Amino acid sequence: MNFVEQPATDQHTDLVIAIDGPSGSGKSSTARGVAQKLGLSYLDTGAMYRAITVAFLRSDLQASDAAGIAALADNAELTVTDDPEAPAISLDGEDVTFIIREPQISQHVSVVATNPHVREVLTDQMRALVEAADRRIVVEGRDITTVVWPDAQVRVLLVADAEARIARRQAELDGVDTAQVTDQVVRRDRDDATVSEFGTPAEGVHLVDSTHMGLAQVIDLICAMVPDDME
Ligand code: C5P
Repeated sequence: MNFVEQPATDQHTDLVIAIDGPSGSGKSSTARGVAQKLGLSYLDTGAMYRAITVAFLRSDLQASDAAGIAALADNAELTVTDDPEAPAISLDGEDVTFIIREPQISQHVSVVATNPHVREVLTDQMRALVEAADRRIVVEGRDITTVVWPDAQVRVLLVADAEARIARRQAELDGVDTAQVTDQVVRRDRDDATVSEFGTPAEGVHLVDSTHMGLAQVIDLICAMVPDDME
């Protein structure tokens, strides 16, 4: 696992902003916007599960082969770029930034993400990436506030009604029909919920419902949660 580091700054106050939430809640756009506004690094942990899913779909492994899928995570070399302006991820030296957004990846990612060993391996890598960013980073996912970095200075659970989430995903995925998008949003969240509790906020986690909010408003709200002496 490698991390393409951004130029070092002279700020050393820890500021980890953890944002969890279901698909289509606006996590990625929000997390990138917050990172840009505050000059922080950015880590999309879903991209890491998606990259392992690329390796899975290229292998001849069955979804039931837990040991085989676990080994994929052990052997994969992920390289993550933490620039919120241009986040990128490579798998074994190949840039898979765009491939990981393809519908078949969204369709199969839960197979990989529900494998306990894969979660362990990627969680260790995520923690190393937070350290490599000098703990000044916005991290988004499903279990960041609870498992990956529960000591984050700002912890947010970003939610939105299912209808709003489906509509947002459909707008992103031009030409994909509603049934497929609904599968990606609703079924995937149900599968994800078997390994990560992201329906209700853990203690100390701010619940933000973005159903009736614009992106800029959500970004401002989260930035306002940062204590003044940490910016
Ligand atoms: O956020 P995104 O939709 O790209 O995440 C893809 C998948 O990765 C999720 O559906 C979930 O299965 C998995 N995931 C996870 N834990 C995280 C981030 C993502 O299980 N922290």
